[in-house]
Amino acid sequence: MRVMVIGGGGREHALVRGLAKSPRVDEVLCVPGNAGTAAIAENVPLSNDDHSALVDLARERMIDLTVVGPEGPLCDGIVDTFQAAGLRIFGPTAEAARLEGDKAYAKKLMKAAKVPTAEARIFQRYREAKEYVATRESGVVVKAAGLAAGKGVAVCRDPADGLLALERMMVDRAFGAAGETVLVEELLKGEELSVFALVDGNTIFVLESAQDHKAVGDGDTGPNTGGMGAYSPAPVATAEVMATVERDILVPIVDALNREEVRYQGMLYAGLMLTPGGPKVLEFNCRFGDPETQAVLMRLDSDLFELLFAAVDGRLEEAEARWDPRSAVCVVMASRGYPGKYDSGKVITGLEKLAGAEDVCVFHAGTKKIEHLTVSSGGRVLGVTALGEDIAAARQRAYAALGEIHFENAYWRTDIAGKGIRAAAARL
Ligand code: AMP
Repeated sequence: MRVMVIGGGGREHALVRGLAKSPRVDEVLCVPGNAGTAAIAENVPLSNDDHSALVDLARERMIDLTVVGPEGPLCDGIVDTFQAAGLRIFGPTAEAARLEGDKAYAKKLMKAAKVPTAEARIFQRYREAKEYVATRESGVVVKAAGLAAGKGVAVCRDPADGLLALERMMVDRAFGAAGETVLVEELLKGEELSVFALVDGNTIFVLESAQDHKAVGDGDTGPNTGGMGAYSPAPVATAEVMATVERDILVPIVDALNREEVRYQGMLYAGLMLTPGGPKVLEFNCRFGDPETQAVLMRLDSDLFELLFAAVDGRLEEAEARWDPRSAVCVVMASRGYPGKYDSGKVITGLEKLAGAEDVCVFHAGTKKIEHLTVSSGGRVLGVTALGEDIAAARQRAYAALGEIHFENAYWRTDIAGKGIRAAAARL
């Protein structure tokens, strides 16, 4: 089988690695990929926006399965284009991907399906939104309804900050058209949890749980990023919690989509807050999370290709997955300055020391090859991921591996998985 992965970050490196391991897969292409994917797949330098060029490539190279990493191409209808061309592709159609791409739509669907989520009001007029926030006495969360690369959410402990966030989105148009509609939500408190599930239209196949760290700084300080690290499994995801999430959240939302004749096929990722009143949805994503995927897939002992292929073919009912019972921790090495301005083109050294390391994998995110050198080419550069008997052991191994790698102005959080270790201790 020939497989193509769309995207070029750490998530895609983890997907490529998982797919390339399958005995059924002969060849993997990654578009555009990075220096990490280049070592195990063929990188093709095409834009993810040019869907018809991607269809041509899939046809030319006789690709049996395309797997889409990022949300952008999904929300822009890449799956619709591939399906119309008779090509197999893993991921939801543009209509189904609205669950991520349009938070106002997702909120309405959750309400209709009685899926527990933060209370929210939806606004298209700045004046009305402002009046509403001004009446609030506790914190609010202001969200741009459209896609904003994970940056369109402002968690405001003080309603006055909510007013500033509204102004930035609706008046200054910081997120362009994505902020024309905004949601003002109640601020939920509790532990966060990400649950990944494969969906084939009907069957929901829940994968393992993970937790990520969004803020750039230690102790969850500073602005939000795409994610500075992750660990799996999440100790807060007890069997009971996972069963509740499946029964009260995943099943009703897929049913609600089906009632609207929207078939959801692909990854359904629920970002949750575990509140005293039970798990509540913060957001749905229509693709694998980054960097949670690096931690989750590190633990997958089954054939990733078989699982994704089964989802596309509507055969998830027969699917099985074996997981490494150990924990995985992924620590992101970023370029100093990220998520703001940062320098690229820094030579990365030490990677060869980890090439054969057992239970350690360095996933590349923003890297590229210049002749024989590997250089940084993005904000998030590497995801150093390790397995260990428990979260603490995995974390120690990940940081030890990270210590072998160097590039100028490298930056990382020093407390990744700390909250997981605390949650695990609290459960004992
Ligand atoms: P989202 O992209 O909607 O998941 O939001 C990004 C981050 O903002 C989440 O991971 C949470 O940390 C936080 N967040 C979003 N919605 C809420 C909410 N209603 N209450 C508290 N925190 C939230």
